[in-house]
Amino acid sequence: MDPVIVSHSHTLDYLNNPSPRTLGRSPLEWLNQLQRPTVIRVAGRDPSRTRAMATLLHGNEPSGLFAIHRWLMEQHTPEVNLLFLLGGVYPAKIPPTFSLRQVPGGRDLNRCFKEPFEREEGAIARAILDELQTANPECLLDVHNTSGTGPAFAVTITNDAAHQALASLFTDRLIMTDLRLGALMEYSEQEVPTVTIECGGAQDDHAHQLAYEGLVRYASQSDVLSLEKAEWNVAVLRNPIRVELASDATIEYRLTPSGHADLTFPPDIENRNFGIVSPDEPLGWVGQKGLDVLTAISHNRTENMEQVLQIRDGRIYPAQAIKTFMITTNPVIAKSDCLFYAVKATGDPIF
Ligand SMILES: [Zn+2]
Repeated sequence: MDPVIVSHSHTLDYLNNPSPRTLGRSPLEWLNQLQRPTVIRVAGRDPSRTRAMATLLHGNEPSGLFAIHRWLMEQHTPEVNLLFLLGGVYPAKIPPTFSLRQVPGGRDLNRCFKEPFEREEGAIARAILDELQTANPECLLDVHNTSGTGPAFAVTITNDAAHQALASLFTDRLIMTDLRLGALMEYSEQEVPTVTIECGGAQDDHAHQLAYEGLVRYASQSDVLSLEKAEWNVAVLRNPIRVELASDATIEYRLTPSGHADLTFPPDIENRNFGIVSPDEPLGWVGQKGLDVLTAISHNRTENMEQVLQIRDGRIYPAQAIKTFMITTNPVIAKSDCLFYAVKATGDPIF
């Protein structure tokens, strides 16, 4: 069957049951052919049901696109209809390919899924929501990559059996958040189980492989919403705090502090991702300014940092046993986004 491309309202393109010879020889060739955010529909064995999967909402997070390309090339027939939504085609295509989260000067598409749908990214978000309304899927995945390397995890605003079952197609860690940012996963409020999947680092082959294997499970299982069918037990981490570094602070990654930085982490700090750190295990070192260069934020509120971290002899220790994740050794991300997230070792919120 030849692809049917219909340029619709100048916002989205459509591919229906695309044949492998229309997909390029590689995901990169395929991306070169795509002209705008694209909807791909694949007919399933049971045409009365549909599952949706969005990806590439951030143009520098390719695992989901790689997985969809590979899966389409293999010509699977899914158990139910599949609706793929490729959001950030514009930033992804800007050379060097897959290097930009959003177009320069543009909005973060995964903050645009709420009123007032301003600017081009708002229009794309609204068009994606319209597609979902029309398709009425039984569930929705949004597949991303993390900034640093580290194990995969899922994020949800709703922690119930259906959301845990969806997460378990990819990972055994589910982060539940009460924060509302205008992210696509907030589609969960439409009574459609929705989870974000963070597959691991954008450069990691194992993240691409995980996205593919999860998609195979998502497409081939007759029931993806029952916990009895889940592959793994899911650990739920509730309302993590964000630990941020002051924008004028300096950070270095060294085995011992040089004495010139406000914060020093060991180069292997990423090994702390999803591990439990006890109050007698040092995480790193602070400089002259102590903990003042760090902020703990929960639900958009600034909290007392000393309930999270404490300083002894210039070293940083957890104030209680904590579980940390999304630690990065990329100093640009550490400063522009956040240093790491943390919950109590039990998975409960610190605040
Ligand atoms: Zn992302």
